Amino acid sequence: MMTINFHGVRGSHPTADVAMAAYGGNTSCVEVVKVNGQGIKVPLIIDAGSGLIKLGYAIGSKLLTNEYSKTFTMLFTHLHPDHTEGFNFFVPNFSPFCKICILGMETLRENVGAVLKGKMMPPTFPIEYKDLKSLRRHGVLSDGQRFHISQEGLPVSIAKEPDPLFEVQVMQAYAPSHPQQGALYYKIRDPEDNTTLACIWDIESHIGGDVRVISFAADADVMIHDTQYTEEEYASPTQPVQGFGHSTYAMAIENAKKARVKYLIPFHYNPRHNDTLLDSMKTKYAENLRDLTMLMSYEGLSITFKEGDILHQDSFLSGFSK
Ligand SMILES: [Zn+2]
Ligand SMILES: [Zn+2]
Repeated sequence: MMTINFHGVRGSHPTADVAMAAYGGNTSCVEVVKVNGQGIKVPLIIDAGSGLIKLGYAIGSKLLTNEYSKTFTMLFTHLHPDHTEGFNFFVPNFSPFCKICILGMETLRENVGAVLKGKMMPPTFPIEYKDLKSLRRHGVLSDGQRFHISQEGLPVSIAKEPDPLFEVQVMQAYAPSHPQQGALYYKIRDPEDNTTLACIWDIESHIGGDVRVISFAADADVMIHDTQYTEEEYASPTQPVQGFGHSTYAMAIENAKKARVKYLIPFHYNPRHNDTLLDSMKTKYAENLRDLTMLMSYEGLSITFKEGDILHQDSFLSGFSK
C-alpha cells in the first residue's frame, strides 16, 4: 500500500496567483510514502521544487517523534530550478537528526550534490551547503538502473535487500525529449502488493507516442505525466513552444493508453494555466477514455493505492482542496 502526496504540481516557476490557488502554485514535488515494518512512515521524495518547502516543515515538526522517518531518499528527475528551488529551504537539511540520500543524473561530470552546492553559497545564499547539519550522501543514477529502497529509506542493491520498501527503476532520455541534458524518469513499485507508479515529467513526447516511455511504463498502475501545454499552445506559430521539452494532454493520454496504465495523473502544469483552464482540461479529456481513468493532480492531493487501485483519496491541505 503506497500513498502518493502531491506537494507541488506546477512546472517552470511558482505562481502566487489566487486564480490558480485550487490546483496550487508550487513547483514539482511528489512524495511516495509507505509505513515500514516498525510502523514508521518512510518518504521517497521525487524532485525538490518549491512544493518541497512545506513538506520540509511537516517533517521538521515530527523530528522528535517516531512517526516519520528521519532517514530517506530524494530522487531528482533533473536540476532545472522548478525541480530544485525548494531544496535551500528544506528544514531536514538543517537538522543533525536527518540522513538524506540524494540521487540524480550525472551532470557536468559531477553528481547532483555539486549542483546543489553551487546553489547554496554566498553571495546568492547566506548558508553554504557544507554547513548544513544533516548528513547527506550523493549518488549518480543512469539509464536502466534498478535498485531497492530499504525499510530504513535508503537505496540498496537488489541482491542485498530481500525485504525492500520500494523497487526503483530508472529511464534516462536525452535532448530533444528535454533540453539540454535530458531527464530521468522513475518507475516505483511496491513489492508488497505490486502497485507500480511511473513518473514521466519534463518530457516532450513524439508522434505516435514515446516508444521508450511506453515500454518503460508498460502495465504500470499509475502514470504521472507532464501536461504543460494545451494542443493550441503546442501548435502556436506566434509563441512557439515545440522543443521546450514538454507534452500536451493528448500526448500524455496517448502514452498512458499505449502503456495500458489504469490511472493517468496530469502534472507539471503551465504556470499560466488557471483553475478554470485546468478544470476545462479535465472536462475535455477525462471522458471517454474507456479503460483509462484521468485524475487531475493538485497541491495537497493524497492518494493511497492498494493492489493497483485507489483505496483512499483526500487532500492534506485545508482550504484549497478540489
Ligand atoms: Zn520542469
Ligand atoms: Zn526541466
